[in-house]
Amino acid sequence: MDISIVVPLYNEAESLPELYDWIERVMKANGFSYEIIFVNDGSTDGSWEVIEGLSRRDPNVHGIKFRRNYGKSPALFCGFRAAQGDVVITMDADLQDSPDEIPALYHMITDEGYDLVSGYKKKRYDPLSKTLPTKLFNATARRVSGIKNLHDFNCGLKAYRKEVVKNIEVYGEMHRYIPYLAKNAGFAKIGEKVVHHQARKFGHTKFGGLNRFVNGYLDLLSLWFLNSFGLKPMHVFGFLGSVMFFLGFIAVVVVGSIKLVAICNGVPAPLVANSPYFYIALTMMILGTQLFVAGFLGELISRNAQERNNYKIEKEI
Ligand code: UDP
Ligand code: MG
Repeated sequence: MDISIVVPLYNEAESLPELYDWIERVMKANGFSYEIIFVNDGSTDGSWEVIEGLSRRDPNVHGIKFRRNYGKSPALFCGFRAAQGDVVITMDADLQDSPDEIPALYHMITDEGYDLVSGYKKKRYDPLSKTLPTKLFNATARRVSGIKNLHDFNCGLKAYRKEVVKNIEVYGEMHRYIPYLAKNAGFAKIGEKVVHHQARKFGHTKFGGLNRFVNGYLDLLSLWFLNSFGLKPMHVFGFLGSVMFFLGFIAVVVVGSIKLVAICNGVPAPLVANSPYFYIALTMMILGTQLFVAGFLGELISRNAQERNNYKIEKEI
């Protein structure tokens, strides 16, 4: 099978028939063998009934129905698990992404050798409250992930080589960072294609609110940390803890020597608690010990994690 199209959706009943017709038209015109996997993420409108109707008519249509709303990432995860095509395309269900882009994306994977191609909504039809923070978000993601050529990490329209989606785990709200997940799994050839974008036709955005920026930022930090130190937490915590403890120890020596020198010279000895070094010694040694223990605990946890020897092997001969 050439293409699997994975469509996560939450309350998009009005858009589905039009989206389906459009995808089918493009697929037939290009002669692709394909499947469409609609992942219904706990919709409370009639989305599932529409999907059932479509799949009765067309054997290329598959559906996965969640019992409740889990989020876009879990929906993508289950769609990826089910996908069978050589190239996997993800797209939003709200008609903002155009199926006309699929053939070009497909050829970038098969002919140009890309592992992942992300859409880039250069001209966006979203409110300013959405586009402006997104610029900042992408700049940060570019820096942290080291994928310098991407302008639109969170674009719903993406194409993947099949191995990519089978080797990454999109959980929580990590759908924002799929290129980074792919890079961390060892897929280096990541590209971008400018895609056409439209204003939402039906319904409203499911990602309003400001907390997505806070969460997005925290997720990015987690990914960065997991990728850099996930398998060796002691290397960061142990190092920081040791440095702090050492500085604290020097401060102890300073405080102690001041007192000793005073005593030897017969001067009335000052209280150690009067010296600023006393407080430096106190905080540094306590923090140092705690960081060290955190590293040790992290090490014990990662040593016992089931995933600890889950390396991505590309080939064996
Ligand atoms: N979506 C989902 N589960 C959710 C939220 C959104 O499956 O909990 C789907 C949604 O139906 C759409 C896609 O994710 O197909 C992108 O969502 P949306 O268009 O609301 O995001 P925006 O384009 O505004 O960033
Ligand atoms: Mg949208």
